[in-house]
Amino acid sequence: MDRKLRLRREKAGFILRIGRNNCYMKKAFLVFILSLALSACSSVVVEEEVFEDDVEMVDRVDEIMMSEEEVDDVKDRLVSLPHDDALERVSVKPFGIYVSPGNSPVENERFSGYHVGVDFEILAGEENVDVPVRAICNGKVLVRSFVNGYGGVLLQTCVIEEKPVRVLYGHLSLSSIVKNVGDTLSQDEEFAVLGEGDSLETDYERKHLHLGIRKGEIVDYRGYVQSKEEISDWIDFLELYKN
Ligand SMILES: [Zn+2]
Repeated sequence: MDRKLRLRREKAGFILRIGRNNCYMKKAFLVFILSLALSACSSVVVEEEVFEDDVEMVDRVDEIMMSEEEVDDVKDRLVSLPHDDALERVSVKPFGIYVSPGNSPVENERFSGYHVGVDFEILAGEENVDVPVRAICNGKVLVRSFVNGYGGVLLQTCVIEEKPVRVLYGHLSLSSIVKNVGDTLSQDEEFAVLGEGDSLETDYERKHLHLGIRKGEIVDYRGYVQSKEEISDWIDFLELYKN
């Protein structure tokens, strides 16, 4: 093959290669653009998938949170008020006050000792109207009975700050209690009205609510204790509510 012919062939081959390369570059460029576009699209899809996953996860968490046990736990760590405007009603016997028949903020005192509950008084005009009482926590009814010194009593088992307690609602109208022993009483649920003042319903006490929170799992109806040390077996509702 003569030199000219070889050179011509080489040139032709070079141009062909350039042409091919050019074509490859165009293709590569196109592929690059396409992949950019695809990656942009796919990233949106991935983001959506992640978002959907998160929503599903939240749903699943909600499902778990909505299980009865969890709801109980969450609710039982908090307390709610036993009456609307309950805070206005604590005016006579707060938690821990020492009373005796000779030295009491109420007339005709029968008891003496440190008050291990909070008394919620009635407001003006409520002497002869129903005053509803609400559950402060979520838990089962343990006792529904007449108890000396209180009249109608409902004792409820609750868990407060992860510890078992017995909540005593005293001076209730026994016949007004809408729950039976073993029933679950939901937090904030209205379940009774106050007993009539100076009648058997309140065991001849003034019309008011005595609310006691006894630590532990024992039944203890006492509204007063005789030594300061024993006060720590009860919880001050107001302190619990405000914290
Ligand atoms: Zn009391």
